[in-house]
Amino acid sequence: MSKFNNEALVNEIKGRLSIINLVESYTSVKKTGKGYVGLCPFHDDTNPSMHVDEDKGLFHCFSCGAGGDIFGFYMRYNNLTFPETLSELAKKAGVTIEKESESVPKKSPNSVLYKINAVAAKYYRNILQESNQGKSGREYVENRKISSETAKEFIFGFAPEGWDNLVKFLTKNKVPLNIAEKVGLIVKRNNSDGYYDRFRNRLMFPICNVDGKVIGFGGRRVDEEDEPKYINSPESDIYQKRKSFYGINKSKGHIRREDRAILVEGYTDFLSLYSSGIKNVVASLGTSLTREHVSILRRYTNNVVVLFDSDESGRKAAKKSLDVLLDEGLLPHVAELPPGKDPDLYIIEEGLDKFNALIENSISWVDFWFDMTRDRQKKGMITRKQMLEEIVELIEHIKDPVERSFWIKKAAQMLSVPESQIYSRVKRGGTQNRTGATKTKQTYSNTEKLLLTVLVKFPDLRVQLNEHQWNELIADRSINSVLEVIVEKGISDPSSLLLSFDDKEAHEMISEALLSSLGVSDVETASKIVEGCIAKLKLSKLDGKLKALRIEIDEAVKEKNVQLEKQLLEEYRDLTIQKQREEGRAL
Ligand SMILES: [Zn+2]
Repeated sequence: MSKFNNEALVNEIKGRLSIINLVESYTSVKKTGKGYVGLCPFHDDTNPSMHVDEDKGLFHCFSCGAGGDIFGFYMRYNNLTFPETLSELAKKAGVTIEKESESVPKKSPNSVLYKINAVAAKYYRNILQESNQGKSGREYVENRKISSETAKEFIFGFAPEGWDNLVKFLTKNKVPLNIAEKVGLIVKRNNSDGYYDRFRNRLMFPICNVDGKVIGFGGRRVDEEDEPKYINSPESDIYQKRKSFYGINKSKGHIRREDRAILVEGYTDFLSLYSSGIKNVVASLGTSLTREHVSILRRYTNNVVVLFDSDESGRKAAKKSLDVLLDEGLLPHVAELPPGKDPDLYIIEEGLDKFNALIENSISWVDFWFDMTRDRQKKGMITRKQMLEEIVELIEHIKDPVERSFWIKKAAQMLSVPESQIYSRVKRGGTQNRTGATKTKQTYSNTEKLLLTVLVKFPDLRVQLNEHQWNELIADRSINSVLEVIVEKGISDPSSLLLSFDDKEAHEMISEALLSSLGVSDVETASKIVEGCIAKLKLSKLDGKLKALRIEIDEAVKEKNVQLEKQLLEEYRDLTIQKQREEGRAL
């Protein structure tokens, strides 16, 4: 459902409900000079960092980045979809949604799947907390020394012994069993009609998506004789391992604030760290990292520390994930636990300070790999040639040409071979994208953000943008799409800008731009800032191209490819002239 269909309805609701009143019912806010500030409910706020602007109908937290309008606030706070939010706020506002009209919020086909999982999570939780059947589960939680707050926060539950407890419960509550089967809670019987419970006599860990909706379950045995140790939900329309993390719905704010994520292997590691107070954690679910995983992490940070066991299998598993992080342009760090020690045991034996130091002193994955191969070569486990090959293999994962040449230099020193020997072995994957280094980075630059802030406050300056190929200069997708709407339509009313976007990132960008102070009130100064931003973006794009070219030229020289060298040098000269021209403009 497009939000445009509901524009009239949305505006009607916004007109009737005050964002201050709504926010106040969740957190206390105080009037300041221009607006209101309060403790942000979306992260552990101790110093009021959420701003609310009644006139614009917006909120924004300048600490964790949460932001948007009254719908965004309600949706995020209650973990609802937009249609659900629309119908609930319509009720609060006393606006009736006409059933026949196009604007009836249709539920997505997946919403019933989420709902069944939520019902099951509640059922398991009640058994763990209250029922006699949950006794062995309670004992297990107690023995693992997981705090009761953590157990509550992550909705621990217990699937009782027996084949059809859940089936009976769902039947009694008129939940269609064929749909419960779709999310893997129950399994069709082979020889007869009916279903049986997938999870029996297990401690249940609901797995949630980023927005906190239950998408699946992990079940751990409590009787050490049961096999296997863990059973997870099968993949379904709402649960795919390749793009799910355990715990990210709770840890994302911490990751954003600390600007670092610690990646661990499973939910038990996650939970022991989280309940010890280390909350910027995520756990993959029995797979190594995928590209989809990395793009989720990137929303919150570019700094990832992978924590693993220093035994052979731990390292092997970690390498796959680390290589994917490199492939996606991040420079991950690694921290190793002593062999056989899980984080839980490590913290109990060594203490929290020592664990924090371990993370603080984590080293870059590339350095780690270099050291490790050198070590193995010294011990005679691999030959020098194998060492070179292993190092080349890793360097091929580094896509950024500047980073790549840095590590090649370092590797050459370590191996005492000329750089050209490494260059000639490394597949030339990194430099083929010569559209500029900005393209490979998805994070916005401060210049892009500043440009958006000015345009949001002075939308008339959009004509100025049109004089340039501006959309090639903006690397951040959210900023790019917001600017596109501003350039196309202008801004009739600031908060209506939000209606053009469905994604949270765009809403956060817009609310931040609208609520941050620019300190400029005249359009002439604003116009100069726009010129300056564009010049700066052009320059940084040119710089990226020049850097990539320099490396290609180096390679051509080393390969003694005179013709290519000449051609590249000409290109280089042209770009340098262009750059000088832009520098003149930027002044
Ligand atoms: Zn916040």
